[in-house]
Amino acid sequence: MQDSDNLPNDSDIVIIGGGIMGTSIAFFLSSETELDITLVEKDSIATGSTGDSSAILRHHYGDQEIYSKMAWWSHRFYRRFDEKTGEAIAYEENPLVRFANEDTPGGTYAQDGYEVLSDLDIPVTRYGSEELPDQYPMLTGVEDYDFGISDDEAGYSDGADAANGFDRAARRNGATVITGTGVESITVDDGAVVGVETEDGEITCETVVVAAGPWTPRLGETVDVDIPISVTREQIIGTSRKSLRELC
Ligand SMILES: Cc1cc2nc3c(=O)[nH]c(=O)nc-3n(C[C@H](O)[C@H](O)[C@H](O)COP(=O)(O)OP(=O)(O)OC[C@H]3O[C@@H](n4cnc5c(N)ncnc54)[C@H](O)[C@@H]3O)c2cc1C
Repeated sequence: MQDSDNLPNDSDIVIIGGGIMGTSIAFFLSSETELDITLVEKDSIATGSTGDSSAILRHHYGDQEIYSKMAWWSHRFYRRFDEKTGEAIAYEENPLVRFANEDTPGGTYAQDGYEVLSDLDIPVTRYGSEELPDQYPMLTGVEDYDFGISDDEAGYSDGADAANGFDRAARRNGATVITGTGVESITVDDGAVVGVETEDGEITCETVVVAAGPWTPRLGETVDVDIPISVTREQIIGTSRKSLRELC
């Protein structure tokens, strides 16, 4: 990891943000091109959403076939992360089931996803109501659902593991990673990007990749680009199986 003393004066590409998006982009660009890559992160690697992620690797996204295709490709990469990057990550396969009732929005979503995965030959199983209690004996109440769709080869990992793995592999490939330095603005001249202004000085470059997650609109404002992302605060409840049964 490099600090701001090593801030380069120029770079072919500056990536803003060291979450899973920024670090993976740094890894792939540094693996597949000879370009100078600089990633600038205001805090530490994976301190945004990536560090809080449940990192579930699923393929069922309702009728959104493009998501299913991207998720399947990515999941195959994560399965071989060690071999591809030289870095180990936490990884476990575990089917992900979605229980649903016919003629409801949730039922339509679940059935659409089943059809998309079937068409793409991604392992998926549809269980009828009568099969659910035998299939999921650890859960009470499943018999109340009309059906369940199991994303059979889903899994989960760890967002911080993956981002830090991409970061280390990108640096081994020659990328420069600066942490603890925020980018204040993107600089343009005559309509073209010419650099970024950081808290510790300017880096000139012709290409900027903004991978700043929910902070992206603030950077867009610096070049008069409105990026329609709004941030919401969500609540997460963690339960054990026992307490889940008690809740039901
Ligand atoms: C609780 C939770 C659970 C989730 N569960 C799942 C899941 O199970 N499966 C799944 O696929 N997804 C899940 N997600 C979503 C997933 O985590 C995010 O989509 C993903 O991490 C986004 O990555 P990112 O790199 O775009 O953004 P981030 O991880 O937010 O990274 C953006 C980075 O940019 C940096 N930054 C911002 N502004 C600047 C600046 N001006 N200068 C320099 N750096 C800057 C930030 O510090 C941050 O590190 C979950 C998210 C949360 C919060």
